[in-house]
Amino acid sequence: MSAAPAIPPTLSRDGMAAALLNDEERTRIRAKSAQFAPPTAALPDGRRDLVGLSREELTDIMVEIGEKPFRTKQLWHWIYHQGVTDFSRMSSIARPLQEKLAERFIVGRPGVVTEQTSQDSTRKFLFRFRDGQEAETVYIPDRQEDRGAVCISSQVGCTLSCTFCHTGTQALVRNLGAAEIVGQFMAARDSYGEWPSPKGETPRLLSTIVLMGMGEPLYNYDNVAKAMRIIMDGEGIGLSRRRITLSTSGVVPMMDQCGAELGINLAVSLHAVRDDLRDEIVPLNRKYPIREVIAACRRYPAASNARRITFEYIMLRDINDSEADARELVRLISGIPAKVNLIPFNPWPGSSYRPSTREQLERFAKIVMDAGFASPIRMPRGRDILAACGQLRTESQRLRRAAREDAATDTVE
Ligand code: SAH
Ligand code: SF4
Repeated sequence: MSAAPAIPPTLSRDGMAAALLNDEERTRIRAKSAQFAPPTAALPDGRRDLVGLSREELTDIMVEIGEKPFRTKQLWHWIYHQGVTDFSRMSSIARPLQEKLAERFIVGRPGVVTEQTSQDSTRKFLFRFRDGQEAETVYIPDRQEDRGAVCISSQVGCTLSCTFCHTGTQALVRNLGAAEIVGQFMAARDSYGEWPSPKGETPRLLSTIVLMGMGEPLYNYDNVAKAMRIIMDGEGIGLSRRRITLSTSGVVPMMDQCGAELGINLAVSLHAVRDDLRDEIVPLNRKYPIREVIAACRRYPAASNARRITFEYIMLRDINDSEADARELVRLISGIPAKVNLIPFNPWPGSSYRPSTREQLERFAKIVMDAGFASPIRMPRGRDILAACGQLRTESQRLRRAAREDAATDTVE
């Protein structure tokens, strides 16, 4: 994985100092992330999954087995454009090579444990990966048109514990690998039979990706970035970076990197406009306070009038939903090409918050709108199957050794 510096060439002295500090932070975040690495892509029988490899890795593997590099292009087409998982269906490849590939490799998918469809057509998948760990993915169809968003998980569990979020009650088990991240999208496409990948502007049913499922994607940046590059590759799935949105709770140093390297859309889970409150409900705020998060948004290169930053704001009754909060929000984000997504709180078993009243939601939305920001209220989808924002959680647990270490740390602290 390239570690290209995310420092823009035209920085002031202060900006340069901040960027260097951020570089150190990035190294630290990546080292931590590596402790939660996914297992290797090899099956017990020694075969290897070709999904999730970069083009360069795929080429290296072909050369290793004595094949020409151009095989990469062929395989890429079958795997990501045609969605074929069976080598014997790859008709442009001669039979002996098909057999040779099948002996050594697979084109994998996560296993589908359950697939539930809500009354409002939202579909939730529980996927199981090769080591038995599980994560959820949700497809949210548009109500009017034949398109929709796939909400993808980036981790099993989450290290952060935002107080309103169900995933936050589950300890981080591990990061998902690139194959598992791409695999969620491909398996959802299997479920709707959307292969081959529609080309160019041809309408797609699974038309956008939101990295808003379980986990903090910027704490698993390398795997997420690799997966998004595969998904954006024009000879395969070919989804434009304009149709991909990554949601973060505000991992400032990685926001810069994401903007510089991937250029996908950014959504920021703001949820509070004062540090004392945000410290409590989004504990990462103690590390990266509101001022720094907003500054990172101002620097975000993909932000423009056509591609605005989304601020997500969960509406918790009597906690963060006052009119003064709305006015402060507007002040904070003034000058940023932005929209504000107001998310009614979705309850989950054991949660103690209450959603804001309809009137309060509308009063809040009006203040934001009058200041010139679009402020759609995100209507909950798939609540009946616990598929709405913040309701995802699995029973996956850390391996016993890790769990014991955890328990030991808990008693020390
Ligand atoms: N970790 C990332 C991405 C996953 S969460 C992040 O926090 O941004 C995706 C969105 O769902 C976030 O905006 C999150 O704050 C919101 N969310 C979490 N719990 C929720 C709940 N109970 N009701 C409504 N939205 C919730
Ligand atoms: Fe993690 Fe996002 Fe949930 Fe916070 S809201 S606990 S960062 S998944």
